Amino acid sequence: MTDYRDTDLFIDGVWRNGSQDRLPVLDPATEETIGALAHAGIDDLDEALAAAAKGFKLWRDVGAFDRSKLMRKAAGILRERAEQVAYLMTREQGKPLVEARLETLGAADTIEWFAEEARRGYGRIVPARATNVTQLVIHEPVGPVAAFTPWNFPLNQAVRKVSAALAAGCSVILKGPEETPASCAELVRAFADAGLPAGVLNLVYGVPATISGHLIPHPVIRKISFTGSTPVGKKLAALAGEHMKRVTMELGGHAPALVFDDADVALAVRILSGAKFRNAGQVCVAPTRFLVADGVYDDFLDGFVKAAKAVKVGNGLEDGVTMGPLANRRRVEAMEALTADALERGAKVETGGERIGNRGYFFQPTVLTGVPLDARIANDEPFGPVALISRVGSYDEAITEANRLPFGLASYAYTRSAKTMADLGRDIEAGMLSINHHGLALPELPFGGIKDSGYGSEGGTEAMDAYVNTKLVTQAV
Ligand code: NAD
Repeated sequence: MTDYRDTDLFIDGVWRNGSQDRLPVLDPATEETIGALAHAGIDDLDEALAAAAKGFKLWRDVGAFDRSKLMRKAAGILRERAEQVAYLMTREQGKPLVEARLETLGAADTIEWFAEEARRGYGRIVPARATNVTQLVIHEPVGPVAAFTPWNFPLNQAVRKVSAALAAGCSVILKGPEETPASCAELVRAFADAGLPAGVLNLVYGVPATISGHLIPHPVIRKISFTGSTPVGKKLAALAGEHMKRVTMELGGHAPALVFDDADVALAVRILSGAKFRNAGQVCVAPTRFLVADGVYDDFLDGFVKAAKAVKVGNGLEDGVTMGPLANRRRVEAMEALTADALERGAKVETGGERIGNRGYFFQPTVLTGVPLDARIANDEPFGPVALISRVGSYDEAITEANRLPFGLASYAYTRSAKTMADLGRDIEAGMLSINHHGLALPELPFGGIKDSGYGSEGGTEAMDAYVNTKLVTQAV
């Protein structure tokens, strides 16, 4: 198997070092330094901006058919390299190889889906009031995009932004995740190796606040897309607003999972526990607040605790491991602090609750019950392998608790009642609701939140809207 490799910046079609000292990259399973990362200074960012401006002029004039063809070639390259990319991802991020492989193949599917959308950027003709007038509604690419993506899904978070932008005819400066840079760079390499012209897609790493502080106000950049935490997202959206830049924000969540008396409890346990512990819970759409009806509470809790105990935690490179380490020390500290706070306020640990060992960022799959609403974990996104299971007495109580928080990203429900499904569709305050299965995040489906979870969509035809301007041309002959 390939060894881990250092990561360079990619600016104007060239892989190269940055002007600042390289940053170390750690393996979260061992805490060893496994590589180094080029670190961009302001001079590098200015070169990326000039490249993106040049790249935009070039790429917007490439026909939709050819943009689509090149993107499909990049998807094929990424798919061919899936094993190698998955290995890099597991080394730097920690997730089991099987999850890293699926993420890489899923990224190729996403590129292909947006490649198809590239050929369907239709405008429209609006019937005119006079016979000599033609009224055209035209979609034009918005311009160079600054995209900021996090470490939990190094490919998946980046590929949604990059693919939609390229499909629309935009150029991109991607600020990838400093803690998981090599796999994200492989996404960029797939496009470069497919023949994307220099300057169309640029990749930088460095101090996030320095990069966003320079790129967002810069006149070359016309569109901002960010995935990360709500507090950072609010700051970046405010900065973008000051400079009248278009914005997509995919921020935190604290997803409720409602299990009703008439649910298939075994199905709910199997799917929800899988979703909870996938990527060690570091998923913006992970179910976190399990609101379980009285009548099935004991069965659900018993099944869920058994499922948590059956999770095999270890180095993601090892066979049979179903949950790797957390991606960085901050997450372990957060899990310890949130769990301690909940216990002080009267919560009970049903299983887990502690760090595993003292080398590598491993944390036990954890189930808490009796968590009071003023506990921090009942309000802050856990972003880790901790499930909060609560008993609810009625539909209204479940909805009130589900909608209590300012977040509104994903939500889940298990019920056999068609009426309950219809009511949920209306009552839940969330951008996404998945009932009786885990059906989110396919490229063809809208993906995004409401309230403090952000705005804009990163999937489906809606995702393309974020990267186009609408222009009216009305002509009389
Ligand atoms: P953080 O809030 O410092 O960073 C979150 C992300 O934002 C990182 O990718 C980081 O590089 C980036 N970032 C931070 N400050 C920035 C700035 N000024 N300009 C541009 N980018 C900036 O916290 P963290 O410790 O990395 O992650 C913790 C929290 O972030 C989690 O609890 C979770 O709520 C959230 N998060 C969400 C997602 C998601 O998929 N929505 C992904 C990763 C992290």
